[in-house]
Amino acid sequence: MSGPETPALRLLLVVAVALVDVDGRVLVSERPAGKQLAGLWEFPGGKVEAGERPEETLIRELSEELGIRVEEPCLAPLTFASHAYPDFHLLMPLYVCRRWSGTPRPMEGQALKWVRPKALRDLAMPPADAPLIPFLVELLGS
Ligand code: C5P
Repeated sequence: MSGPETPALRLLLVVAVALVDVDGRVLVSERPAGKQLAGLWEFPGGKVEAGERPEETLIRELSEELGIRVEEPCLAPLTFASHAYPDFHLLMPLYVCRRWSGTPRPMEGQALKWVRPKALRDLAMPPADAPLIPFLVELLGS
């Protein structure tokens, strides 16, 4: 049992996806000015809302952020990020997706780029995202 001295843990569930193109490159999105961690490159995704399953969140976020349509069977879970930020603990499942309808475009004005898995290491990414890179390199090659 936790006593009054134990601070409540604020847990944030965010879900992210590595979209992989036919050349084996991965899409990253720049966090826009004004947001926390602005200017860092992240895997697309977002907060899981109440009542949503992570796959539903991804389908919604990919439509809102990139204008693409993804079918749920095309989302394969790969691993989890778990990072203690100062004010919350982030849990972030990472999925891999190789098939979608439409062409990803910046629906919210964010910068997008396709990079080779190994080149992810050279990007400034949020501290929760960076530890996921070796899993993608292992899965996709460099
Ligand atoms: O994207 P959003 O601002 O809603 O995400 C909430 C928080 O989750 C961010 O402020 C950031 O700390 C964290 N986050 C992250 N990596 C991501 C997405 C979000 O560390 N790819």
